[in-house]
Amino acid sequence: MGTTVDIPMFIFDEISKLYPQARCELNYRKDYELLIAIMLSAQTTDQAVNAVTERLFEQYHSVQEFAEAPLADLEHAIRRIGLFRNKTKNVKTMASIIVEQYQGKIPADQSALESLPGVGRKTANVYLAEFHHVPRIAVDTHVSRVSIRLGFAKQGDSPETIEKKLMKLYDESLWINLHHKLIFFGRYFCKAKKPNCKECPILQYCKMPVL
Ligand code: SF4
Repeated sequence: MGTTVDIPMFIFDEISKLYPQARCELNYRKDYELLIAIMLSAQTTDQAVNAVTERLFEQYHSVQEFAEAPLADLEHAIRRIGLFRNKTKNVKTMASIIVEQYQGKIPADQSALESLPGVGRKTANVYLAEFHHVPRIAVDTHVSRVSIRLGFAKQGDSPETIEKKLMKLYDESLWINLHHKLIFFGRYFCKAKKPNCKECPILQYCKMPVL
């Protein structure tokens, strides 16, 4: 009698072997710095965000300073990041709300976070998982693509649907780790254009290999 393979766990273990150190690659020291970095990271790379925030966080030392900064100065500091005008406006408004309504502390609450401008479900999930270690699976483009290729989700599923499907497949204790591993696997191995299928350790369970 053969033993049944727990396919989701096999996949988790193999991806973990490839990227044992997978983690958040955004640089930050304080709660508001992390939230701003995540807000800036939409549709751009973490490296591009880090290159900008290194100076930005030296220029502005508190959420109050972000709230009070002239918009044009903030835009200038953030200009190298895609969609910088919209992102800058959101960062400044978010900072004002945090100062006025939350005594300068970023709330550790999903709906309060999602009510902030420029903060959606994914951003709130990343923030809560990273800063407060709340079990969350933030679904970005990498997590979506890999989940679909592996048959965990289907084409057309919304990020929220994919998030729920992954939450059913994996124990809560693995969610934060899974999120990091899937991002690294998607970013560096199972890439959008040229996935490394020939060397993929989970090829046998992949529904969409490119060979
Ligand atoms: S076989 Fe290719 S497409 Fe499938 S998970 Fe591996 S790298 Fe990605």
